[in-house]
Amino acid sequence: MDKPFARPLLGFAAYSGTGKTTLLEKLLPLLRAQGLQVSYIKHSHHKVDIDKPGKDSYRLRQAGASQVLLASAKRWALMQETTEGSDEPRLAELLQQLDPSQCDLVLVEGFKHESIPRIECQRQTLMQQHGRPAFYPDDQHVIALATDSPIQTQRPIPCLDLNQPPEIVQFILRWMGRDTTRKEPMNNDGLISVAEAQQRIRDSLEAISGFERCSLQDAYGRVLAEAVTSPINVPGYVNSAMDGYAINADDLAKQTALTVVGQALAGVPFEGEVKPGQAVRIMTGAMLPTGCDTVVMQEQTMREGDSLQIQGEHRMGANVRQIGEDIAANSPVLPAGRRLQAADLGLLASLGIAEVAVRRRLRVASFSTGDELCSLGQALGPGQIYDSNRYALYGLLREMDVEHHDMGVIRDDPTAIREAFKGAAAIADVVITSGGVSVGDADYVKQILDELGEIGFWRIRMKPGKPLAFGRLGQALFFGLPGNPVSSMATFQQIVKPSLRHLQGEIDTTASSLKLRTVSRLKKRPGRADYQRGILENDAEGELVVRSTGPQGSHILSSMSQANCFIVLPAECGDVEEGAIVEVQPFSML
Ligand code: AMP
Ligand code: MG
Repeated sequence: MDKPFARPLLGFAAYSGTGKTTLLEKLLPLLRAQGLQVSYIKHSHHKVDIDKPGKDSYRLRQAGASQVLLASAKRWALMQETTEGSDEPRLAELLQQLDPSQCDLVLVEGFKHESIPRIECQRQTLMQQHGRPAFYPDDQHVIALATDSPIQTQRPIPCLDLNQPPEIVQFILRWMGRDTTRKEPMNNDGLISVAEAQQRIRDSLEAISGFERCSLQDAYGRVLAEAVTSPINVPGYVNSAMDGYAINADDLAKQTALTVVGQALAGVPFEGEVKPGQAVRIMTGAMLPTGCDTVVMQEQTMREGDSLQIQGEHRMGANVRQIGEDIAANSPVLPAGRRLQAADLGLLASLGIAEVAVRRRLRVASFSTGDELCSLGQALGPGQIYDSNRYALYGLLREMDVEHHDMGVIRDDPTAIREAFKGAAAIADVVITSGGVSVGDADYVKQILDELGEIGFWRIRMKPGKPLAFGRLGQALFFGLPGNPVSSMATFQQIVKPSLRHLQGEIDTTASSLKLRTVSRLKKRPGRADYQRGILENDAEGELVVRSTGPQGSHILSSMSQANCFIVLPAECGDVEEGAIVEVQPFSML
């Protein structure tokens, strides 16, 4: 395997006549102006030659030099002859010729079968005239389109303007993680991205200190406060991996038949020493008797009375589990910051560990705000609805193993809100509310948050969602979720949940996602990132695909209940056609 080249590679794919080289010519000075050193690799026709007939270098190459290095004060070029009948050059091999210290980015033309990210350039008239298909529907390596007129894409993919090289450069910089415009969103609409909101919150958080020791049963789902190393070897003694006979491998060459002198069972070892010419009947997990080093499967033996014939070839140490083979004493087993799962409890038990140190439970207080909210058990008055957020939030927090103080509903009344906020902040590490954070809401919530704490009101480029209040209320962190039931759940899952996990001291809080085919057409307006509700299922061929739950209004809570995943569609993309590949976050992976 070739070592991967340590700099980003970005390909450009297009039909000839699209103006790819002209575009690259415009991108290069812009990239240079950003302080980037850019290298360029182009695949060419097989007879390509940069030399000129009659020149010394040309003549000597003709005469048989396999490498010719032509050098001057301005530049040098190495010409490497390939052997007659060579295959097409592979990109990984060619990249070895480049010096990573002299380049930040490699632009690649051609090499369309290599697995590298690429931008597809399209000139619509050219494609229509010649009836040429786009590459990106089949080529998952295409990360963006650059087209001369807007099109409806078949999968969610950024669409750049082919005639706006600065826009393409911005995209490349962001793709390289060098976004210079991040602090000022490109379309200055005052909205921030989900990633930015997560980052801002993360930057202002520190995990709670304080831990407690608890039994394995009580540690399930909690976060380890300190790393665990193994106090013992597992296995703790040499034992058999098979049912068969324990022997000494030296005997295999010397003896034709061995004498069976006893048996070893799991938990009942053979007492005494096995001498040359002897064997012991042994069961899986039984301790290997002294004098033996190998186990022969019973299927490869013939036994008559106490006499044992061994068939076939056997390696010394075969079918024997060595001490510490699974876990060696003093080796690391689980890191601090690990949320304990079922297998972890089993693993700890296998080491004889009965108690572990876990972070103390995070204390979370929550309430719903709104005059229209009616508690369960009461009759709905005109214009009233039941408080569903309270229960959805209860479930979401339950999954996270926090100490939850559910404070019910607070009326849109300044005194009640002030008292509730103060009370919550006094008992909790985190206060979460729903409702009352959008524009035009009963302004008391904002007014009192301003009076009691430092709260920012953010508009997030996500749908459902958008408004979120975040800040500090006394010693507590404060999250104000939007009121719409789907928005409040989605905002919780995307923004609050990773923050709580971080506060709980968990080390790995990134959500995993899948790329899957959608079997539904997905309606979307460009602008905000959509977290549409989806159902993961197997199609007739057994392939995992995703389907929409249907209407996606932020008040349609049944969509959230039917769903088992979010379909994440990037801000820039528009409608997504059936069959397109989309990003999916299973709820179980959040
Ligand atoms: P708000 O963010 O307070 O303006 O509320 C936006 C929408 O969500 C309104 O239709 C509210 O009635 C609804 N809503 C607010 N809080 C809740 C809640 N706890 N349960 C159900 N719906 C709510
Ligand atoms: Mg309200």
